[in-house]
Amino acid sequence: MIGTVDSPALAGKLILGGWALNSSLSDIGFSILERDCYTCQHCGFESRPSKKVNHGFMVPVDTNSPVLVTREVHSGKCLCQLCASALAVNWSVVRQTSDEESAPGCLIWLPEFTQEKISIVASLILATSNNVPPSHHLYEAASHALTAFNGRTAHMAANVQLYKNDKDEEFVRALSLLPSEYFDYREQALKGVRFWPNPKFWAKSSHYWLKAVYENAAGFE
Ligand SMILES: [Zn+2]
Repeated sequence: MIGTVDSPALAGKLILGGWALNSSLSDIGFSILERDCYTCQHCGFESRPSKKVNHGFMVPVDTNSPVLVTREVHSGKCLCQLCASALAVNWSVVRQTSDEESAPGCLIWLPEFTQEKISIVASLILATSNNVPPSHHLYEAASHALTAFNGRTAHMAANVQLYKNDKDEEFVRALSLLPSEYFDYREQALKGVRFWPNPKFWAKSSHYWLKAVYENAAGFE
């Protein structure tokens, strides 16, 4: 399931690692990541901290908070950046600069897969398509998978009322403004909507994931 937040700018900062630089959030955040062994509590992706990247691109999140920020260890959980982005689509499908392709991702219609399954598959596809040479045996598979997932954007308009062709930004703004009495409708309307990441936006994280997680995995070489 995807979600919206009360403050997209704040959620974006959190997801991109701003919490680790904030003294009032970092102690709590690192305690959560360590307790959850740098493993995403939604999709199961396991990252690894390093000296240089001590958060491993994982995020401490309070899923019950309207801004996702967690101020207590017990109410927070460790999520990967992709699962956290799915909870803040009014940040994660919105362009960050005037560049058309600067959004962290887009909305796709894919009711057959849960968001969790999509996130874990996406982390491998991004790590591969962004970083391995075309001669690598997984490169072509990742490129095809990217095309297939991106192709599901075209199914949004046909399946979601209120959604207009290729207008993720307008749609998520409308969603975030829906009063709470419409939440049942919202749940229903969003049943098959998923967040799909933009590989370019996550280039830095995916490079890290490749080195820290996937490169040593069986079957990768
Ligand atoms: Zn995840």
